[in-house]
Amino acid sequence: MNYTIAIAPGDGIGQEVTEWAVKAVEKAAPAHHFNWTKILAGGCAIDAEGVPLPPKSLETALACDALLLGAVGGPKWETLPGNLRPERALLGLRAGLGVYANLRPASLIQELKDACPIKDEVLKAAHPQGKPEFDILIVRELTGGIYFGERGRGKAENVLGDYAYDTEKYSRAEVERVLRFGYEAAQKRRGKLCMVDKSNVLESSRFWREITAEMAKNYDGVETSYMYVDNAAMQLVRAPGQFDVIVTSNLFGDILSDEASAVCGSIGLLASASLGDKAPGKKYIAGMYEPVHGSAPDIAGKNLANPLAAILSGAMMLRYSFGLETEACAIENAVRAVLRDGCRTKDIAGSGKYIGTTEMGTAVLAAIYPAEVLR
Ligand code: NAD
Repeated sequence: MNYTIAIAPGDGIGQEVTEWAVKAVEKAAPAHHFNWTKILAGGCAIDAEGVPLPPKSLETALACDALLLGAVGGPKWETLPGNLRPERALLGLRAGLGVYANLRPASLIQELKDACPIKDEVLKAAHPQGKPEFDILIVRELTGGIYFGERGRGKAENVLGDYAYDTEKYSRAEVERVLRFGYEAAQKRRGKLCMVDKSNVLESSRFWREITAEMAKNYDGVETSYMYVDNAAMQLVRAPGQFDVIVTSNLFGDILSDEASAVCGSIGLLASASLGDKAPGKKYIAGMYEPVHGSAPDIAGKNLANPLAAILSGAMMLRYSFGLETEACAIENAVRAVLRDGCRTKDIAGSGKYIGTTEMGTAVLAAIYPAEVLR
């Protein structure tokens, strides 16, 4: 098959890590042809064209089958006004592509157990099967809720004085479509979905609960549960093994997915996918894939960046956009193999020896068995 992919390396280490994602995808799926088109997004676009997301970048991304992004931002552009900051490119791409479900896997990689900040005894004691393991998929609503609701400031004519407000508003359609992603993912995983909200206080959360209860009836094989967000934040560090798929709103998902990242060890390992619907005339659903980390200006250009999150984002693209499950597994297996062999970049080496971005990327490529061999 032929696939067209827009690639936005962005700024800082984004430039260094994305090339390894491209090489890994090519190596894992030699029976397929990938046509990569580079686009400008972030600080590099500001330098070249004066805006964080030039219209032709979005046009190209919309015309392609998927988008792979590195990271954007850096101190050079920090003093620019908000609408000209590199990070606006992310919002522009997410909104433009209509990717409303953000999927972030967070699992304990056995080979990297030392990097997990939770004690083995705690993990074991809290895990239903007594194993020190967890494997969670957080599905965060990405294009609605309080980040997009009405907001403002005012001045009251009473003793309270100035005020400011933000609004959490969700439509039924917005909640249903993200829950659908969660349920379908749970069906392919361990069959558990936990909807996280604050329904003891918020009306919008009670709405999410009602809709979840209605949809649960259509997913027989999936066990649905509910949890308040404050409890979920605690349970993620107390007993992460209890979760399979977590579905939640934009604000709660933003916070919980960062917490889950920290539980895994290093941010340099975490990949993400942002997915939407299939636009008319398109073959595949809208998909944007990127490592969770930023542009890491402190290590950019020093061959110190961990390329694994970008490489694993490439695997997510093969799985979620193109349904190439064996090819995605080929990349994930290779990542586990190099970690098992003791390859470590600085962020995951502790006080031990470490290798550079290039060496880690090369090791992963060498460990990838193309899907044809695995089948
Ligand atoms: P960051 O993720 O860039 O860096 C945080 C820390 O983690 C740094 O010490 C960095 O060296 C380290 N780190 C990050 N990725 C790593 C990797 N792959 N390998 C090894 N170490 C890694 O977050 P920050 O410092 O808060 O932000 C830096 C810039 O990135 C800012 O301009 C911010 O706005 C931007 N940012 C962009 C995105 C994105 O593009 N999606 C996400 C977060 C931050």
